[in-house]
Amino acid sequence: MKRFSYSIEVPKELGLYSKPIVSKFIETLTDPRSWKGHQFEFVSVQSPPSSTLRRTSRHVGDVPSQRLGKVQPNSKNHIRIIFARNVQIKNTCGFTGLSCADTINKIVYINERNWRCPPKVSGLSLQEYRTYLILHEIGHIIGKNHPIKCGKVGTKMDVMTQQTLGKCTKINTKNVWP
Ligand SMILES: [Zn+2]
Repeated sequence: MKRFSYSIEVPKELGLYSKPIVSKFIETLTDPRSWKGHQFEFVSVQSPPSSTLRRTSRHVGDVPSQRLGKVQPNSKNHIRIIFARNVQIKNTCGFTGLSCADTINKIVYINERNWRCPPKVSGLSLQEYRTYLILHEIGHIIGKNHPIKCGKVGTKMDVMTQQTLGKCTKINTKNVWP
């Protein structure tokens, strides 16, 4: 099992609530269908929102952030997740309209516009799209690339397919998990 820690930065000026974002990341990255099922573990350095803690206080040992262990923020296995506007993504990654991953410095830039409102061509619901976005960008950080071709007709969509652009949606069936 390869272990990473991560932190999420949501700049105030974006006007997004960070607590549900932290919850969504924790929920997605601890799901057995996620990269976790492929021997990758991701531990949030941020506590889950207190409402979650209160609800699950009897099982506090199960809360991912309680198991931080030896992973230190700023270590080479730490991932920074930054919510960003198109203009910042353009300056950093050279394109707009998408999220991007700086695999060298292990930084994921989540496109705040897509996070709020998934592109229609993706064919995904809001929650499905957010799950996809998290797993796709984290996928880049752990060394996964876009597939060269769509899968065979009727097979499950690869999470590393650029679903934001609606690629392969007419060929492959909807899927947001690796
Ligand atoms: Zn990508």
